[in-house]
Amino acid sequence: MATTDDYYAVLGVDRRATPDEIKKAFRRLTREWHPDRHPDDPEVALRYRRINEAYNTLGDAARRAKYDMSQRLEGIELRKGFDGRSARDLLGNVFGDVFGTRRDRRRRGRDLRYTLSVSFAEAVLGSEHDIEFEAPGPCSACAGSGTRPGGRPPQTCTVCGGKGEIKGEGLLSRRSACGRCSGTGLVQPDPCQECRGRGTRRQTRSFRVRLPPGTDAGAERVLEGEGEPGRYGGKAGDLKVTVNVSPHRWLRRKGDEIHCEVPLSISEAARGGKIPVPTVDGLVDVDVPKGVRTGTRLRLRGKGVPAAKGKGRGDQLVTVVIETPVLSGSPAVAEAIDALEAACEAAPASLPRRLEMRKALGDNE
Ligand SMILES: [Zn+2]
Ligand SMILES: [Zn+2]
Repeated sequence: MATTDDYYAVLGVDRRATPDEIKKAFRRLTREWHPDRHPDDPEVALRYRRINEAYNTLGDAARRAKYDMSQRLEGIELRKGFDGRSARDLLGNVFGDVFGTRRDRRRRGRDLRYTLSVSFAEAVLGSEHDIEFEAPGPCSACAGSGTRPGGRPPQTCTVCGGKGEIKGEGLLSRRSACGRCSGTGLVQPDPCQECRGRGTRRQTRSFRVRLPPGTDAGAERVLEGEGEPGRYGGKAGDLKVTVNVSPHRWLRRKGDEIHCEVPLSISEAARGGKIPVPTVDGLVDVDVPKGVRTGTRLRLRGKGVPAAKGKGRGDQLVTVVIETPVLSGSPAVAEAIDALEAACEAAPASLPRRLEMRKALGDNE
């Protein structure tokens, strides 16, 4: 990875820079990009490392001479079967956003992402949430301009001439983001003291997010312009809120329907009656018909997912499951089951399906 870095560009100095100029540039950059000054910013740490790496080579006469030579050789080798685009992509990948070269000086702020976890009912019925997090926001001291109040406005970078990138030597000219202006082509002659000319500072940012009824897991709400502020008049990024829905203990969503299973005892199923069923609106007493079977589906109209535009609502489907009693640990239940079985044997028509099958099997024997 180090070999694809243009050390001169990293330090923002000319190829013919004197050792003194290199040292000065290094000192200035390490002051500006010291990780202690920008805690929690991994890009800064990466950049700081590259600055040191570059100086380690260019700050030493012998290593610098070797580096200059290797760059020239590399340029020649790359020329064989040269494909401009892949070489460019390679650099682009290496530099990524930190050192990415751009023609436009205005820099759009990065998008911020936030995952909002909500309950099943909050997603289905719609809800409002106040979220708060630490993120870069406009610096209050300079109103996001990066310029000290009363200071001179940003000026064209003298190292790259405002291009934001520096061209290397040779026929194959590699380009690298200018280290003096971070590839923006502009420098702050009078940087704001609070944000060191970046125009942004980490701060607590809070928003209210509205989820409409019928919100599904994975849905994204975009709060335009609420991401990281732009630089040099660039647009602010967006705040993208992704909705994470916690699974419900009993309820499952299928399109605009909500499904659930309701276990019934043998006697509840045999006698029927009102059974409490969970819904997103709370418990609802549902009429279960006498003699209901396992697998029977009951429809609760209007207890499903509301349509996005507020027109109507889906249903909830309740699947009945007869729960077999567990006998271990309860002699009373075991006795009652014995008694139930004895009574059913005496009155075979009380279990008509079993009776039918037994008869059919008996006839075949
Ligand atoms: Zn500021
Ligand atoms: Zn520059």
